[in-house]
Amino acid sequence: MLSTITEKALAYRSFAQHNFRQIPQISQLSEEQINDIDIVSHVLPFKSNNYVVDELINWDNVPDDPIFTLTFPRKEMLIPEHYERMKAIMESGASKDEIKKVAHSIRLELNPHPAGQLEHNVPMIEGHKLTGMQHKYKQTVLFFPSQGQTCHAYCSFCFRWPQFVGMDEWKFAMKETELLIKYLKEHTEVTDLLFTGGDPMIMKNKIFATYIDALLEADIPNLQTIRIGTKALGYWPYKFITDDDADDTLRTFEKIVNSGKNLAIMAHFNHPVELSTDAVAEAIRRVRATGAQIRTQSPIMRNINAEPGIWADMWRKQVNMNCIPYYMFVARDTGAQHYFKVPLVEAWEIFQNAYQQVSGVCRTVRGPSMSATPGKVQVMGVSEVGGKKIMTLRFLQGRNPDWVGKPFFAEYDEKAIWLDDLKPAFGEKKFFFEDELKQIFESEISNSEVGNFE
Ligand code: SF4
Repeated sequence: MLSTITEKALAYRSFAQHNFRQIPQISQLSEEQINDIDIVSHVLPFKSNNYVVDELINWDNVPDDPIFTLTFPRKEMLIPEHYERMKAIMESGASKDEIKKVAHSIRLELNPHPAGQLEHNVPMIEGHKLTGMQHKYKQTVLFFPSQGQTCHAYCSFCFRWPQFVGMDEWKFAMKETELLIKYLKEHTEVTDLLFTGGDPMIMKNKIFATYIDALLEADIPNLQTIRIGTKALGYWPYKFITDDDADDTLRTFEKIVNSGKNLAIMAHFNHPVELSTDAVAEAIRRVRATGAQIRTQSPIMRNINAEPGIWADMWRKQVNMNCIPYYMFVARDTGAQHYFKVPLVEAWEIFQNAYQQVSGVCRTVRGPSMSATPGKVQVMGVSEVGGKKIMTLRFLQGRNPDWVGKPFFAEYDEKAIWLDDLKPAFGEKKFFFEDELKQIFESEISNSEVGNFE
């Protein structure tokens, strides 16, 4: 298969607001649809590429095609008031700066940093905030290498969208491995380091290997797993096949595995189409051959994948390709959430229906899960107690590890889309974790140290 793919090897070409009109297939859209892409992409980030455009999108099915929806903005992704505000300023002959100002003001209304990630998760060392890291859960540190803060294409639902639109004051990024290593050595409870972004697999191997070499040389015994959160397999599989540093990247993966650490590629796939090309099959085969595991995850989103058959198909394909289904997430309360949102009850119904369709080897997947302020909360289901419907939830991760695994209950609410929308069941005033969460935040503020909750 490799020779066919090598013959077809693509040179990466990205499309964004300034050049998307050059995509030949765009001429199939109406002038209005094209203008809408232009208007919305002034607010929300937009980037696609030639692989997504030529091999994943079915242009006969546009604008409903799921991968088109995944990477191209459209009118409905802004609420009408924001859309009209943006359209009006663009049609008024205003200067670029004025247009930018309006776009920025709209972005500020889109909850750019949900789940308290800006205020509450940034660790400290020797009195310095480590702004390129997050430490929310005891065992896992997230690391945002500064050269990995973009992606091969952007997802229209992405909760990290502020990083891509120049809201720089909120950009997480970090260059220094020294401080990271120091932090990991001091925090012996940390077993997992997650490289994230953007997409760390946008980094050239020359840079990626510098981080990895430093980490391996530091020989940190508590560090057992290196995870890499990436959508490169979905958006640019050539990263692992024919890019000029593809083989070197795989050698770096092997180095991690040979050092005795677990390497987990946390691969982001939103739709089975992304698993359908020869290129992705070959990329997965090559990555797996290094000894790395591939775990898969995706949010559930209206207009892209909110159907049980899509999930069942996706999990089956992933297992057949030697990947491990890992998470179904709920779309975060940010950006274009109004367009993608799936209420919690419906998300659970879709999950349950899909789960029932697949064999035990696919049932490694967990969900639907919200990455909310107190932790990762899974909707376990709807039950009836004393003739009343309730929702059962549990923490898969918690700011306090003691919360993990304990079921708790909320009143049945089929409109709720996020943890904040739910009320405790059985007449309780608060959920069991609320007082403690408040205390955690208060102590963080009084200590001016945000990593202290572990
Ligand atoms: S690949 Fe990940 S970080 Fe990049 S746009 Fe998509 S969801 Fe966001």
